[in-house]
Amino acid sequence: MATVLGCIADDFTGATDLAALLSRSGVPVSLRIGVPAEDDIDTAAFEVIALKIRTVPAKDAVDQARAAFQWLKKAGATRFFWKYCSTFDSTAEGNIGPVAEMLMDELGAKQTIYCPAFPENGRSIFMGHLFVGEQLLSESPMKDHPLTPMRDSSLVRLLQPQVQRKVGLANRLVVAQGGATLRARLDALASEGVGHMVTDAVSDDDLKTIAEASADMPLTTGGSAIAGQLARFYVEQGLTSAPAGKLSAQVPEGGQVVFSGSCSAMTRRQVAYYAGKNASLRLDPVALEDGGTGAAREWLQQQAANQPKLIFATAEPEEVRKAQETLGLEKASYIVEQALAGLAKQAFRNGARRFVVAGGETSGAITQALGITRLEIGPEIAPGVPWVFADVEGERVALALKSGNFGSETFFEDAFKLLEAA
Ligand code: ADP
Repeated sequence: MATVLGCIADDFTGATDLAALLSRSGVPVSLRIGVPAEDDIDTAAFEVIALKIRTVPAKDAVDQARAAFQWLKKAGATRFFWKYCSTFDSTAEGNIGPVAEMLMDELGAKQTIYCPAFPENGRSIFMGHLFVGEQLLSESPMKDHPLTPMRDSSLVRLLQPQVQRKVGLANRLVVAQGGATLRARLDALASEGVGHMVTDAVSDDDLKTIAEASADMPLTTGGSAIAGQLARFYVEQGLTSAPAGKLSAQVPEGGQVVFSGSCSAMTRRQVAYYAGKNASLRLDPVALEDGGTGAAREWLQQQAANQPKLIFATAEPEEVRKAQETLGLEKASYIVEQALAGLAKQAFRNGARRFVVAGGETSGAITQALGITRLEIGPEIAPGVPWVFADVEGERVALALKSGNFGSETFFEDAFKLLEAA
């Protein structure tokens, strides 16, 4: 099938979140991990390419995103979406702005929008300021993120240092006046050379208005929620259609295991809840640096394959800071990611076929270690977190790849229950 919408996501859980919300339109979605081979012509109407470029140097991010763009263009895409986190995770160097500007240049686009809002998950934008629930982003737990601490809430201020063109705002008062007014505002600012428009959104109705006003743009950017509304709009416009009937995903049998490398506030609650009820093992990066993963491997080997279990490096901000001071930020992250990835491979060899993974970077490391390149989207466990299915060494595997703050306290348990019921 010819691709109409080509999406590039800056991390793996972001890509699954995006795929889940696009899937709600009923249109087939295919999720690739990394840029597919040039001769891969088995494409879906909505294609999502998951990259791992949130925290790499801006030049690398731009190069990888360009390669993804070229593949999507060749697949036939006429609209493009650049997906980043609903908490705008980035640094002053990028990579949200630089990738967007590269895509604008490739497409000859004068303007794009920035809409990370995800009202269903409590992410909203008002007067250009991003809120997590009722807190400003800079006062939310995101201020302590190990890799991208967010210490400002103004999207205009966060974005401007990352880009060449001017950044503007379409505030809630404009959005509330409907699609035509918003469109007129976007056009007026485009003619003044404002290339980047932050758009306020506090509800799904706001997102519908923004989708209506930006549906003709070759490039839109933001979180999964605006993409979901754009997808619906593309169907309404007749750009693509949803086939009748639903594909029923086949659920693999086999052991279950949770891996958590996310230190986000919600993950910390999920880990505490699940560890209180199931066998669990805590990994400490400093101990891993000194002693390797031998003890963890032994622990995993001793667990019965069919018993629920949890391996986590999840820690409080104070402990994360200490580990980063001792090892350096990148090394601390790398040690944890590699340890969890190695243990996931071992779990697979021991018969695990149902994996819940908490953490965007962590999910990237684990899917890479398992050699996964393409995912099929299954049922949604929580808004933006679907079960996905993949082949690993010829065996079918189910994965729930959850970014830090998604899901409720019982998410790990809920995820497995949903598979049991499928
Ligand atoms: P999230 O989705 O919550 O942002 P990520 O997996 O993307 O989670 O990022 C969390 C990062 O923190 C990972 O790179 C992980 O390796 C690192 N990390 C996990 N546990 C620790 C720890 N105890 N000390 C230092 N860094 C850690």
